[in-house]
Amino acid sequence: MKRIVIVGASAAGLTAAEALRHRGWGGDLTLIGEEPHPPYDRPPLSKQILTGAWKPERVTLRSLQDLARLEVDLRLGQRATALDVAGGQVRLGNGESIGFDGLIIATGVAPRHLPDSDLAGVHVLRTLDDALGLRAALLTGPRVVVVGAGFLGTEVAAAARTMGLEVTVVEPEPVPVRRPFGDRIGTLVANLHRDHGTRLRCGISVRRLRGAGGRVTGVELGDGTALPADVVVLALGSTPATRWLTGSSLRLRDGVECDALCRAAPGIYAAGDVASWHNPHFGTRMRLEHRMNATEQAMAAAGNLLGDAKPFAPVPYFWTDQYDTRIQAYGMFPPDADVRIVHGDPVDGCFAAAYGHHGRVVGVLGWNAPRQVRTLRRLVVERASWTAFTVVPALRPATVH
Ligand SMILES: Cc1cc2nc3c(=O)[nH]c(=O)nc-3n(C[C@H](O)[C@H](O)[C@H](O)COP(=O)(O)OP(=O)(O)OC[C@H]3O[C@@H](n4cnc5c(N)ncnc54)[C@H](O)[C@@H]3O)c2cc1C
Repeated sequence: MKRIVIVGASAAGLTAAEALRHRGWGGDLTLIGEEPHPPYDRPPLSKQILTGAWKPERVTLRSLQDLARLEVDLRLGQRATALDVAGGQVRLGNGESIGFDGLIIATGVAPRHLPDSDLAGVHVLRTLDDALGLRAALLTGPRVVVVGAGFLGTEVAAAARTMGLEVTVVEPEPVPVRRPFGDRIGTLVANLHRDHGTRLRCGISVRRLRGAGGRVTGVELGDGTALPADVVVLALGSTPATRWLTGSSLRLRDGVECDALCRAAPGIYAAGDVASWHNPHFGTRMRLEHRMNATEQAMAAAGNLLGDAKPFAPVPYFWTDQYDTRIQAYGMFPPDADVRIVHGDPVDGCFAAAYGHHGRVVGVLGWNAPRQVRTLRRLVVERASWTAFTVVPALRPATVH
């Protein structure tokens, strides 16, 4: 191999570059990123950057000196537009083609939109520029409607509410974060938001955005009622950024489809939010939009490109910060899992829960319980038997207040 190209210059792309150098790759290394900024961290965008607790520079992942030491041909502000697998070429938006012997795809995901998303006052949040634009809008003291109560939507709502704004969240599911964590944790998250004065409209969809003179004026719900809004944040989930790979012969179902080695084709690997791979630990295919996974998977993909041939079998980890609460989760959280409290009590705002599925512990979740959840993680790693937990009380359905 003479040249390795990495497309996507963020958490996964940067980690892959560092891992390759760390592992002794001395050949040419090119890192291509569409954004103009050097690699930066996204989790603070919906937290410290929105509230203003951090200055924007603080999200930068490496100094310019660190990047120079990597001896990487860094192509910022350049979009990859096509991949020629057989010819080993990545085409760029400026017409240039870059040849490669090894390729790592780390292009992440792109936010979903609604029709009329181009009205002024309608925001999505994926990039640093999105976050700075949204913060500037929030500083004008608007009425805010957040569409979607997944992690991103609930974090944005918490940040906006912390800034003292009037915030309403609209969500078609009966409770927030239901898909990742289920009804019971979702109800606790709903209560957390209500306790902080955020309004929730759950179990109802958005019919359309309303606007006048090119500006958003509100959100019309499925039952015809309207929520007036000066700022609308669309937090509708994301789609893998694979459009540039269309027609490349790579399998693109939910992201770039890889095997257990994170390999999409000979010499071509994928990592981070864009990669779907078979996780042998759980015996299932998954694609994770988790910060820790971007790092771990990029290291694995880089190692496998250099010949490790090691299956990537992590226990997924995710955290979210909302108001004064940190939720941390290791493992998987199937909708039909049995959920039991194994430490503390939700009433006290500090507890840990375990998720059992098919007789095994498959996930643990901590609510302001970092030490306990770190200890319990071992049970997911070891695929411990669920029997021991069936003697502790099941997590009672929390009441909505
Ligand atoms: C606001 C926000 C808050 C988050 N909070 C948390 C959290 O609290 N906890 C947690 O675990 N995770 C969180 N995440 C998720 C975490 O940030 C992601 O999992 C992580 O950033 C994924 O890294 P990545 O490198 O795979 O993709 P990305 O960070 O999305 O980077 C992909 C890069 O590729 C570039 N790119 C795309 N297409 C092309 C192309 N064709 N050519 C060139 N470049 C291209 C993109 O511009 C982007 O810079 C959050 C994400 C966001 C957006």
